[in-house]
Amino acid sequence: MMKSDLEMKSNHVFLFKEGSSKFVNLLGGKGAGLAEMTRIGLPVPPGFTITTDVCREYIKDGEAVLDKISHEVDEKLKILEKETGHLFGDASNPLLVSVRSGAPVSMPGMMETVLNLGLNDQTVKGLIAQTANERFAYDAYRRFVQMYSKVVLGVDGKKFEDLIEAFKEKLGVKLDTELDKDTLKELVVAFKRLVRAETGKAFPEDPRLQLKTAIKAVFESWNIKKARNYRRIFKIPDDLGTAVNVQVMVFGNMGEDSGSGVGFTRDPSTGENRLYGEYLLNAQGEDVVSGARTPQPIDTLGKKLPEVYEDLLRVSRMLERHYKDMQDIEFTIERGKLYILQTRTGKRSAQAAVKIAVDMVEEGLLTEEEALMKVEPEQLDQLLHKRIDPKVDTKVIAKGLPASPGAASGKVVFNTDEAAKLGNAGEKVLLVRPETTPEDIHGMVAAQGVLTSRGGMTCHAAVVARGMGKPAVVGAEEIKIDLEKETFNIDGLEVKKGAIITIDGGSGQVILGEVPTIEPELTTEFKVLLGWASHARRLGVRANADTPEAAKNARNFGAEGIGLCRTERMFNAKDRLPTVQEMILAETEEDRKRALNKLLPMQKNDFKEIFRIMKGLPVTIRLLDLPLHEFLPKLEDLLVEAATLRSTGVEEDAFKEKERVLKKVMALSEHNPMLGHRGCRLGITHPEIYEMQTRAIFEAATELSKEGVSVELEIMVPLVSEANELRFLREKIEKVANDVMEKFKVKLKYSIGTMIEIPRAALTADEIAKYADFFSFGTNDLTQTVWGYSRDDAEGKFLHNYLNNKIVADNPFETIDVSGVGKLMRIAIESGRGAKKGLKIGICGEVGGEPRSVEFCRKIGLDYVSCSPFRVPVANLAAAHAELRHK
Ligand code: ADP
Ligand code: MG
Ligand code: MG
Repeated sequence: MMKSDLEMKSNHVFLFKEGSSKFVNLLGGKGAGLAEMTRIGLPVPPGFTITTDVCREYIKDGEAVLDKISHEVDEKLKILEKETGHLFGDASNPLLVSVRSGAPVSMPGMMETVLNLGLNDQTVKGLIAQTANERFAYDAYRRFVQMYSKVVLGVDGKKFEDLIEAFKEKLGVKLDTELDKDTLKELVVAFKRLVRAETGKAFPEDPRLQLKTAIKAVFESWNIKKARNYRRIFKIPDDLGTAVNVQVMVFGNMGEDSGSGVGFTRDPSTGENRLYGEYLLNAQGEDVVSGARTPQPIDTLGKKLPEVYEDLLRVSRMLERHYKDMQDIEFTIERGKLYILQTRTGKRSAQAAVKIAVDMVEEGLLTEEEALMKVEPEQLDQLLHKRIDPKVDTKVIAKGLPASPGAASGKVVFNTDEAAKLGNAGEKVLLVRPETTPEDIHGMVAAQGVLTSRGGMTCHAAVVARGMGKPAVVGAEEIKIDLEKETFNIDGLEVKKGAIITIDGGSGQVILGEVPTIEPELTTEFKVLLGWASHARRLGVRANADTPEAAKNARNFGAEGIGLCRTERMFNAKDRLPTVQEMILAETEEDRKRALNKLLPMQKNDFKEIFRIMKGLPVTIRLLDLPLHEFLPKLEDLLVEAATLRSTGVEEDAFKEKERVLKKVMALSEHNPMLGHRGCRLGITHPEIYEMQTRAIFEAATELSKEGVSVELEIMVPLVSEANELRFLREKIEKVANDVMEKFKVKLKYSIGTMIEIPRAALTADEIAKYADFFSFGTNDLTQTVWGYSRDDAEGKFLHNYLNNKIVADNPFETIDVSGVGKLMRIAIESGRGAKKGLKIGICGEVGGEPRSVEFCRKIGLDYVSCSPFRVPVANLAAAHAELRHK
């Protein structure tokens, strides 16, 4: 019988058979799982759960609550006694239980479980009588004294292990299982003596007192330091509290027909549909994970205890059918009978997540929509970066936080300047520091990746590396860095400067040596899942791609067009720079046009290639948006060169030319280039540049259309803040477009739009819309201008501090700042579409591939998001999630 929600609230203690998975918050994950498994008829030893409410009350008001619930505990104990036929504390027929913690959110290793509770010098005799197995009984007893003393009384666990070792040595044996009954009996006595010496008190013999204190210890464990730290790192609220599960013991240590193990219902790293796990015969639960004995792979159980193995397979299938997900289970076999002691959703690799979701649809377990929800968009990111080849055996030497995904190998370098120097000279280096500061930026830029021993997910190294798209592992506390000696140590292993290591910023692993990495590939399952995602969403997904290479990637990853094709890079290419400089340095309009005419065919070819790859999908080309001085040599370099030329005094002409360039560079240099003469401002003062670009675009498109390749052209003007800017440029663009189309006698469909990346543009969107066929939010610049931050300075210098001090909750360059930038976006959409119904609006900032931002974009009614090609699958799935959640 299931209790109603209301009754659930007024009680403090519930039998497993009264609860269900609905009550995770009240019963904790473990308790809810045990209840649910009981409900669906799986073999679960009976027990009860004390709710998280009680824990919260304990934390607030202290011990009084333990007395308050004691009659409820007694009542439930009586029911367990009735069901099992054993009596708690009875000398001839004792009932033994385990006491297990379990919070609503899994917090592994926070409090250890106490098994075999209820044993004392009297009841152990009853256990012997029940089982006719004295060795077993004393083994159970010594385990109980050991665990209880460690977990509840706080005695150092190592002292018990030392005693065991001493006894083993005396007997000349290696394994715990080789200790005979008399030795185990002696151990119990020795353990109790130790407890008295350590605590000044006798070991508690009264089972009821044992139970009460164990329950109390579980509640106390909620606030120990490691638990608090864990919650802080994983953003788990402190007020959830933990439940306590008291469960009738089953024994895996009753001989070779008994055992204990853990398993996953599918392979958690590949996703393959097979039971995966480990077990030990003649062992209690904690033996499997403690590493004292090496566990066996689960398939060998099929030979040893075939019926149990069959049962386990059956249970595993039942659990999957019931939970519609891969499960992580614990089990115990007592004299040939299988018991399930825990189930929870299994953690899995990204690859496994995708495969399991798709397989489960094929198996009829999930609908396509349900399968989509089983994979986290961010998880896909792991599959889209270079990864460590999983087929290669690696030597993991340390683990830190996975701060920025991707794998990188290189020489260990501790000094930032040295990292910068070596890196810039083309060497592969990894910068290893206790932590990074704004002074380390140049080294980070030049390194393949960053490893720090301190810091969390929002420390300087993490924030900056993510911004740069560079692999980073941070807070790898096991590594002890010695900056003087230029070495780091892990457990006695010394790694010197210059040694090669590899980091995997997706998993946090640090590996000795160079490890082969693999390029991201799309498996069949991945493609299938992405197909379903495309089908489920309404928001369009495009890619930002400047080169034919990137355009190919964009299509491979399923982009439905290019949302941003920047033309700066086409100017910057090495072979073009001299021509670009010639254009900038030209003294007369004629000279300038001559240089531009040389650039035209180059640009045209770039466009042709990209259009060909995109096969008629929309391509948004943004006209040049870089200040001109960016294309010229650096002022400092020029000064030095000019001075040298003058002092030698031989090459008069060369000196004059140098001086001319120098003057031009000085004339073009700006106090604040970000807010300076760039984008459409440059397009208006130097109309010939945009005219050349427009001509190149249209000639490319007309030539292709003659070949039968269609092109959907979208010309985008950057940095507009006033409608007249766009009106002015639109006229010029249209004129060139008409010229070209007339000349080639081809009619092309095209549109002209603008970036919305200046607050004034957002605020005057209605006026701008008169001249725009589309808008695209440039959220990088919009964020910079709304916050008044320059991104590099913010991320390099103070943003990590803001994040740590919770001045800002998130980095606004990583996820849309909904209350500021987002508000402006809403204003722009409303006023833009108010002036022009159905105005097409997209976003082309990096955040366009970030799941929370994608959800926001759907909500405010954008037509599409556009992000880097590798983020396209993430955006695709995120857009599908947003749609499905909305349903
Ligand atoms: P953790 O959360 O650390 O896994 P658990 O409460 O799940 O702690 O228990 C630790 C070990 O003890 C597990 O292997 C579990 O299966 C085993 N165990 C817990 N309760 C019982 C029980 N009533 N009978 C037998 N084994 C148990
Ligand atoms: Mg467990
Ligand atoms: Mg911009």
